[in-house]
Amino acid sequence: MTKGKVSGIIANMVTLAVDGPVAQNEICYILLNGVRLMAEVIKVTGNNVYVQVFESTRGLKVGAEAEFTGHMLEVQLGPGMLSKNYDGLQNDLDKMEGVFLHRGEYTQPLDEERLWHFKPIVKVGDKVRAGDWLGEVEENFQPLKMMAPFRQKGVSTIKKIAEEGDYTIHHIIAVLTDEQGNDVEVDMVQRWPVKLALTAYAEKLRPYKLLETGVRTIDTFNPIVEGGTGFIPGPFGTGKTVLQHAISKQAAADIVIMAACGERANEVVEIFTEYPELNDPHTGRKLMERTIIIANTSNMPVAAREASVYTAMTMAEYYRAMGLRVMLMADSTSRWAQALREMSNRMEELPGPDAFPMDISSIIANFYGRAGMVILNNGQKGSITFIGTVSPAGGNLKEPVTENTKKVARCFYALEQERADKKRYPAVNPIDSYSKYLEYPEFEEYITERINGDWIGKVNEMKTRMLRGKEIAEQINILGDDGVPVDYHVVFWKSELIDYVVLQQDAFDEIDAITPLERQEEIVDMVIDICHAELEFDTFLEVMDFFKKVINICKQVNYSEYKSDDYYRYRKELDEFMATKTK
Ligand code: ADP
Ligand code: MG
Repeated sequence: MTKGKVSGIIANMVTLAVDGPVAQNEICYILLNGVRLMAEVIKVTGNNVYVQVFESTRGLKVGAEAEFTGHMLEVQLGPGMLSKNYDGLQNDLDKMEGVFLHRGEYTQPLDEERLWHFKPIVKVGDKVRAGDWLGEVEENFQPLKMMAPFRQKGVSTIKKIAEEGDYTIHHIIAVLTDEQGNDVEVDMVQRWPVKLALTAYAEKLRPYKLLETGVRTIDTFNPIVEGGTGFIPGPFGTGKTVLQHAISKQAAADIVIMAACGERANEVVEIFTEYPELNDPHTGRKLMERTIIIANTSNMPVAAREASVYTAMTMAEYYRAMGLRVMLMADSTSRWAQALREMSNRMEELPGPDAFPMDISSIIANFYGRAGMVILNNGQKGSITFIGTVSPAGGNLKEPVTENTKKVARCFYALEQERADKKRYPAVNPIDSYSKYLEYPEFEEYITERINGDWIGKVNEMKTRMLRGKEIAEQINILGDDGVPVDYHVVFWKSELIDYVVLQQDAFDEIDAITPLERQEEIVDMVIDICHAELEFDTFLEVMDFFKKVINICKQVNYSEYKSDDYYRYRKELDEFMATKTK
């Protein structure tokens, strides 16, 4: 293996003079007083190699020795990852005192002693390709597939397969004969370099299937789909955490992976304390059973921060290859991009916009491009739905990270300070937000089959009414209540009705917090029927009184258990009240 000597140090960036070949992104260890500091190669020019050290370089001197490993930054994939807290280098944080490891300390990410109950899927003589399922173990009620090595080339033949039984992760569960006739021993652990997409699937599909979250402003107004992508700008206090929790708990997914990338340390601690508390409405148990948290705080070195989102994505790809639906969230991708910026600046590269690396747009596009719904070799589907937050400095949505994310993410949920200040939760701005899936013919076909009638038409009508309402609110602001015709007030209050009844949703009310799609459809119909009713008013005060009353009754409907006595009672009250006003 290649060796090197430290020739220069700028913070976490170290230059090394090397005596052999070194590859871009290769991992090396720098020796410092008996500890080994992990580092990643970020640039190679002749015998000069630039590496980014994943931890503090305090005390490091020129002349210190380094050993190269011949491989890139990898994760170990296997049973035992669910409900774990890892850092970006897959250190098991539960084994640590708090969030901090000692320098040069790396932990074994998977339990090597635990026994897993293995059931074979293939038999001797079967042909398999990379990623094909060999057998199954169960972890926290999730059926996990043990797969043919992702690095395996071509078609291999099963020579041996373990019988059903209890084994550790390092037990040889299968022997394959590859195309060259060599035997390959397979255990339950796979290693994969985090920066390479894991593409052990037959085909990527254009996503089309609604990923129900139970959050109306998402499902009804700007739906996300299974295997889709979205992003949320996250000014502090606008409800980012509440929304992320709602999506993690409620979205129709098997596995939740949460990458907390370099947010403030206290926010990361918050994630560790809050996630284990969350109940899983799908199973009645704890959400953490099917969750993995990857967390780096901003006081960890930048390179470790950069790694964390890749580590999370690679784990997501691993579960997708098992045919599972993964919900992946990263908070925040801006901190990740800032890590990239710090690294590129230290290398004195020619900077791109706002001093971000020149290729920031392709870095972001490649990352989002790893999400998606795929068809596996065996015809089963798996998906990664990815939602990232961005936290642009000063809330400026014109900066490079937000702009480039906008180009690739298909949904945008604009959390807005002004709405949060007015306590209109979730504070997702209905006019600036969008979902491009609404324009996908595949999505329209899917949703039209699930919901009878012109769903997209209704959604567009509500969006138009929201926009009209906003314009009129501005006019009323300038001209005063009496300065505009009474009809204008009606238009404005119809938009308020949609806002209060469809969009606003109390995340802390047991019933209102989760609205299944069928119920969302009823709410939409209830609201649209009111909008279409022919109403007559003489004064704007009458308009206001009427709509306030209507909104109140509709909210009572929303807060009532679906199809309960209360529910029907409020529906009836609404009909009766409407009858008093309609022509
Ligand atoms: P952020 O993570 O963006 O700083 P939080 O998610 O912690 O903000 O939200 C701040 C506060 O806003 C919450 O403590 C809660 O009181 C309120 N809030 C946010 N979303 C909702 C919601 N959907 N329903 C009710 N309250 C909400
Ligand atoms: Mg928060």
